[in-house]
Amino acid sequence: MSGAAQLAQSLVAGDRRALSKAITLVESSLEADRQTARELLSHLTEPKATFRIGVTGVPGAGKSTLIDGLGLAAVAAGKRVAVLAVDPSSRQSGGSVLGDKTRMTQLSSVPSAFVRPSPTRGVLGGTAARTREVILLCEAAGYDVIFVETVGVGQSEERVASMVDCVLLVLLAGAGDELSSMKRGVLEAADLIAFNKADAGPAQAVQNEAASLRASLSISRPGDMPPVLAASALEGAGVGELWAALLQQHAEAEQHGALARRRLAQRRSWFESALEEALLAAFANSPDLALAKAAAEYAVDAGIVSPVEAAQRLADQAIPGQRS
Ligand code: GDP
Repeated sequence: MSGAAQLAQSLVAGDRRALSKAITLVESSLEADRQTARELLSHLTEPKATFRIGVTGVPGAGKSTLIDGLGLAAVAAGKRVAVLAVDPSSRQSGGSVLGDKTRMTQLSSVPSAFVRPSPTRGVLGGTAARTREVILLCEAAGYDVIFVETVGVGQSEERVASMVDCVLLVLLAGAGDELSSMKRGVLEAADLIAFNKADAGPAQAVQNEAASLRASLSISRPGDMPPVLAASALEGAGVGELWAALLQQHAEAEQHGALARRRLAQRRSWFESALEEALLAAFANSPDLALAKAAAEYAVDAGIVSPVEAAQRLADQAIPGQRS
């Protein structure tokens, strides 16, 4: 049996060390590791009844604390929970945005939960494709609820939306300015919105804030309004309701076929980006094409040829006869 097949077997059997090892493997950019990672993934089947939840919001909004509470609610319902973090700011592993803090302390100590261990190593840098692969690894290892935490900085929620079933946007109660300066895409990518730290101000204030956001969403997203809830992750208030709302939304999406459509579209875009990656790797691995690409880069830099024309010529050279 090959190393990849063995690793797949241990992972499916629930060996946590095998899961950590597999995650490290798929995150590696070494070509030899990529090959093993592809083989590993080909041994795994994609389970259907999982729930992938993206959690986004500014640093300090309370995402980690909220995931801790939501994760415990899922565990109490008999689910196995995995938590991953994606750093939108870095293309390499070891990003800094999510910070060096103790994350999900309660959930980390639950045997049926898997929180990527140390904050720096626990952050997935790199492409969205890698995060998708890591989600699959967790699912194959038997985790049925997967939280993907990301810092909201504009583009990251669209990226996280392309790999999860549902995006939960965590807003800070009492931070009115935050909302008005928020990029449209952030609110548009959200499937559910929670005002966290509801305990920090008068109860009526957060209700008013939620009502005013609902009013503006009814104009910007008519017919597709995400529920807006209030919670205190620290005190646990509203967390059960939030988990129930997430489950309800998931069940409805499943019933109406929206979930299957979303996952199908995600698989397609995953394929597209994997194809791009494979083509670029093919260029890098073929001496002739690598040389031609280097020459094209030089010509582009020198302004001899336009980037678009250079790319097309290179494609013609790599795949002769593709233009009729
Ligand atoms: P993240 O950066 O979005 O993951 O935020 P964290 O979960 O790390 O929380 C940031 C800080 O806010 C921590 O000190 C938490 O204890 C605190 N915090 C989180 N949720 C609440 C809440 O509901 N109420 C209050 N008062 N503090 C909270």
